[in-house]
Amino acid sequence: MRVYGDAPYSHGEAPIDTDYHLPFFTMRDFSQISYIVDSSDRLISLNQDWSSFAQNNGGADLRPEAMSGRVLWDFIADEATRELYAAVLAKVRSGAPTYLVLRCDAPASRRLIEMAVHKLENGDVEFKTVLLAAKDRPFQRLFDHSTPRTTHHLMVCSWCDRVHVGGEEWVEVEEAMERLHLNDETELPQVDPMVCMACFTKVMEIVSGPGLQPDAP
Ligand SMILES: [Zn+2]
Repeated sequence: MRVYGDAPYSHGEAPIDTDYHLPFFTMRDFSQISYIVDSSDRLISLNQDWSSFAQNNGGADLRPEAMSGRVLWDFIADEATRELYAAVLAKVRSGAPTYLVLRCDAPASRRLIEMAVHKLENGDVEFKTVLLAAKDRPFQRLFDHSTPRTTHHLMVCSWCDRVHVGGEEWVEVEEAMERLHLNDETELPQVDPMVCMACFTKVMEIVSGPGLQPDAP
């Protein structure tokens, strides 16, 4: 388990807990899911689509029965992403529903989803995603679960699905494959879900309205 420092944001070589995928951001086989988090940040309800996702991805860790009861933070290794989710939860618990638009691409399609986050009557928080738009594109092996991987890592923003290509540059996967000379490689780097600075700033602006009561995980 990595130890989380105090730095609010870093683009550095952040170590990732590779024991877990990030199911909230890498659900590339379906577009509509919902889950409920209780007051202790534990996952208490996951809808049927989780099962499909787990089956399609061969991830035993992602079966609803394997995830239920575990804290949300077990599945979000990236510090900046944890910070965003903590801010979203704090805002929603203060009584303000929050709607966020993010990319959730499949290997052969770009997809835009809306994530609606509401407080339920009993105080639990429900996350629901709905597909807004999808567009086909040539199959992208970087986003395919079955692609063989090297020991190298590539950062991909969980919110805009852009790939980090160096410095402060995050670009679409097609361009990243070209620029990083990965198109002819059989094995591709592992994908580390992160959040780019542009998305971090945008989401923080959305959730830092009145009524926010920051509550770190
Ligand atoms: Zn981004």
